[in-house]
Amino acid sequence: MNETKLPVAGPQLVRHEARALVRDHRRALAWALALHGLAALAALVGPAVIGRLVDLVRGNATISDVDSLAAVLAVAVLAQTALTWAARRQSFVLSERVFAQLREQFVERVVALPLSVVERAGTGDLLTRTTRDVDALSHTVRFAVPAVLVAVVSTLLTTGATFAAGWKVALLPVVMAVPLLWVSSRWYLRRAPAGYLAEGASYAVLNGTVTETVDGARTVDALGLGDERRRRVDADLRGCYRAERYTLWLRSVWFPSVEFCYVLPVAAALLWGGWLASNGQATVGQVTAVTLYVLMLMGPVDELLSWLDEVQIGATSFARIVGVGDVPDDRTATGAVPADERMAAHDVRYAYREGHDVLRDVSLRLVPGERLAVVGPSGAGKSTLGRLLAGIHGPRTGRVEVGGVPLVDLPLDHLRGHVALVTQEHHVFVGTLADNLRLARPGASEEELRGALAAVDALTWADRLPAGLDTEVGSGARELTPSQAQQLALARLVLNDPHTLVLDEATSLLDPRAARHLERSLSAVLNGRTVVAIAHRLHTAHDADRVAVVEDGRISEIGRHHELVEAGGPYAALWESWTDAPGDDARPSRAS
Ligand code: ADP
Repeated sequence: MNETKLPVAGPQLVRHEARALVRDHRRALAWALALHGLAALAALVGPAVIGRLVDLVRGNATISDVDSLAAVLAVAVLAQTALTWAARRQSFVLSERVFAQLREQFVERVVALPLSVVERAGTGDLLTRTTRDVDALSHTVRFAVPAVLVAVVSTLLTTGATFAAGWKVALLPVVMAVPLLWVSSRWYLRRAPAGYLAEGASYAVLNGTVTETVDGARTVDALGLGDERRRRVDADLRGCYRAERYTLWLRSVWFPSVEFCYVLPVAAALLWGGWLASNGQATVGQVTAVTLYVLMLMGPVDELLSWLDEVQIGATSFARIVGVGDVPDDRTATGAVPADERMAAHDVRYAYREGHDVLRDVSLRLVPGERLAVVGPSGAGKSTLGRLLAGIHGPRTGRVEVGGVPLVDLPLDHLRGHVALVTQEHHVFVGTLADNLRLARPGASEEELRGALAAVDALTWADRLPAGLDTEVGSGARELTPSQAQQLALARLVLNDPHTLVLDEATSLLDPRAARHLERSLSAVLNGRTVVAIAHRLHTAHDADRVAVVEDGRISEIGRHHELVEAGGPYAALWESWTDAPGDDARPSRAS
């Protein structure tokens, strides 16, 4: 299958989204930073006090001098503990809020994805984004971002304190460590995003292949495609392995060089500081304080670098999640209001792939209230025409309109009030029966809901449910039978009340095993509406008011059944071959 992946957001969009998040939470963020800053300041008291203590002891200190310094140290440690607790609490609460917001935005974006895009992108990519990427992002937002904030604040303040304690002693260790750290980290950070993106994409491909194989298990079995599918999974796994190996290699170069950068400045501070002290250019207390600060720096710098890795992973996931919202909408509401309920298509062309039009110059006017059957050979473009008439795809050129307004100019909820595609996807959502119905019309009253159920002959069983319309249904609650679920879908249609229905037989509710009452429910819904029935079998065409024959993306003939049969054109040929074919009891005799 040729899968077009969903887009990944570019750096600019990612920065824009990140800035918007910061803006939304700036007060809480400022609080968290202030608390972390105070905690870090409290932590800086220790080495300064110890350095001072060393100098005092080398001079002529009294016990009370030592006692008062020890008291300062104790207070600083207590303050640091309390402040760290408050700061961590603040940042964890903040990150939970941010993540909740991200999750809500993501769900909104997924739900708003144009149907045509989901169809083309395949489910594997979307599945990976909703599972692996959301998990990765949650880890980043909950743990990495707060840790990075703390580390940045601590590193800056500790560096400041190191220089304040004795800038001459501090100079050499910092000068040695920083460029080395900078170069190795830049080397890593330049390669890492592409590496992690490739890793994410390789898992999406694997997910897609496995999902497709499982979904199509019967076909795979029937056509003996097992070996081929196994080879594809193996190839995808090799792709994942290569991607993982690459990022592992990046880490295996970067981590050791970072380790080296930690040890170097401590040794440098002791040797260089010792030399300065022996020349009388620094006190032993200063050297002690600086060495302790350099040792202390190791913690936040290490924290910062190790989380940077995580932040990179999170950022690529963030780009993939934000990318879902970057799909251009396939319709723009212009505010135009249809003048009436007349549906028409004018010179419509449509292509799934550029340069391959599957509909060419299709023009059609629906007569309100008529039943139009669309027939033609398989692959002629009937279902495509149906999806265009239902406003799911917009035409490449030409117009599909209702009351003079293109369908793609209408907001989705207005569109559904005009025309709906009836498919077999009749999902029962978790919630009450009433919730399920109100999806179609949020403000519907209890009476309207009951009316809709009655219209599709479903009120009797609905009333027999333990809590009536307030009964919880869907997975984990009361399971509805397939035919009840179908009736629920039909009742939603009644509530939506579109004047035109497009019925694709290949995917329609007309399940041959369905009970007769279900057909009655359907005809109750069809009654009084304009119906376009995509007829993959001819007997439904025979009962229609008009028949349109689609051949090779064009409407080659349109008219009443008997007129077309008499005209002796393509429809007559189709009808002839169909009624001549032996062995199908469902077919009418040639006399009919
Ligand atoms: P019919 O309903 O008459 O059998 P369709 O409208 O399903 O015909 O298909 C018309 C043409 O468009 C066919 O060549 C088919 O392969 C192609 N087509 C249909 N759906 C898609 C799709 N989602 N992506 C790409 N091509 C498609």
